Amino acid sequence: MEKDVFCSIIAGDIPSTRLQEDNSFVAIKDIHPKAQHHYLIIPKKHIESIDDVENSDRDLMGDMVLFAQQCAKTLNLEGYKLLVNVGEKGGQEVPHIHLHLLGGEFYR
Ligand code: 5GP
Repeated sequence: MEKDVFCSIIAGDIPSTRLQEDNSFVAIKDIHPKAQHHYLIIPKKHIESIDDVENSDRDLMGDMVLFAQQCAKTLNLEGYKLLVNVGEKGGQEVPHIHLHLLGGEFYR
C-alpha cells in the first residue's frame, strides 16, 4: 500500500491542526482553506476513494458522517457542506478517502 500524505498525518509524521480524533477518524484543518471553517474528516483506515468502498466498510462510512456531524457541533456551525471528490477526474488530489467539512464564510 502506498503511503499518502494523510497516512503520514495520521501517524504524526507530518504536523496538522487537529480538531477532533477518535479510534477511527481524525479531523484536521485544511492547509488551503476554501471557507472560514474548512476541515478534512479522514478515516484512519486507508481507503483510496469512494470508488474503493466495499460492503465491509458500511459501518465505517456511516460513522464518518456521524463524526463529521460531531465536528460541526464542536464548531457551532448552524449549516455546512460535506463534499467528497472522487478520483483524479473528480478533483481528488489526495488518494485517501476524506470528507471536506465547510462552514461559515466561503472564500472565492
Ligand atoms: P481533495 O482534492 O483530495 O479532495 O482534497 C485534498 C485536500 O487536502 C485539499 O483541500 C488540500 O488543501 C488538503 N491538503 C493537502 N495536503 C495537506 C497537508 O499536508 N495538510 C493539510 N492539513 N491539508 C492538506
